[in-house]
Amino acid sequence: MLARRVLLGSALGALFGSGLGAEEAGQEKLKVVVSFSILEDFVKNVGAERVESTALVGPNGNAHVYAPSPADARKVADARLVFVNGLGFEGWLDRLVKASGTKAAIVEASRGIAPRDRVTGNDQGTADPHAWQSVANAKIYVSNIRDALIAADPAGRRIYETHAARYLAKLDALEDEVKATITRIPDDRRRVISTHDAFAYFDAAYGIHFIAPQGVSTETEASARDVGVIIKQIRTQRIRAVFLENVSDARLMRQIAGETGAKIGGVLYSDALTDENGDAPTYIDLVRHNVKQLAGALLS
Ligand code: ZN
Repeated sequence: MLARRVLLGSALGALFGSGLGAEEAGQEKLKVVVSFSILEDFVKNVGAERVESTALVGPNGNAHVYAPSPADARKVADARLVFVNGLGFEGWLDRLVKASGTKAAIVEASRGIAPRDRVTGNDQGTADPHAWQSVANAKIYVSNIRDALIAADPAGRRIYETHAARYLAKLDALEDEVKATITRIPDDRRRVISTHDAFAYFDAAYGIHFIAPQGVSTETEASARDVGVIIKQIRTQRIRAVFLENVSDARLMRQIAGETGAKIGGVLYSDALTDENGDAPTYIDLVRHNVKQLAGALLS
């Protein structure tokens, strides 16, 4: 199949004199579908020019409540690999895969991380999916992506290994940077409010405690009682800042800030990148931005 398409590509190139070099015309990219934008950034960093990726839930999108379209089913049907987070993040995935009839391998990028249980909301005791918020976990994602790309496209092994090694070194440097910044924040100031419970892995790795009125999934709204508990907590624990998110409604946090006098510390990016013009078009930008916002609010 692949060989036939390659031949066809070269023949058309010759026919229309497209001017493509032999290598460009002869090499078909590995088509992959990725469930959400943060994971797509990892795939792009490892796959580089050999891989053509499509994200189902794009920048600023909320994967918790996503409803796939027929166009998504066609993308999945065409893919050689489908990368997902796993840990229950993409509750809509199984139906989409079935509907598409795809033969693609489904790769859970979080495989091998130590899952944390949800401690809030209706799904207590099941896994918390937001594992990418620890950079150490992100490195496991990247290794899994590298191995899956090599398995699907062994001829690209050297490219995948080289790019993965380079990106993993950047993530090492990023993690050092995160730790160095957070060390400067005194222990008694390390409490913040975020909209939904997306930062438990960040908390466990780096020691900033997050409290959220909305649970791990954004499917259920915070109740008046939940909000009351948070407001009381902000007052008794002297919590200094509340944060907005790009995937959640800002009104609730503005209300909580207004009632307690806590300041709005800025926007944290939890489950999605921003577009090119935003603060977090890549995972590395996302982590840097979040840490800068946290330090800015907690050190002032
Ligand atoms: Zn989330």
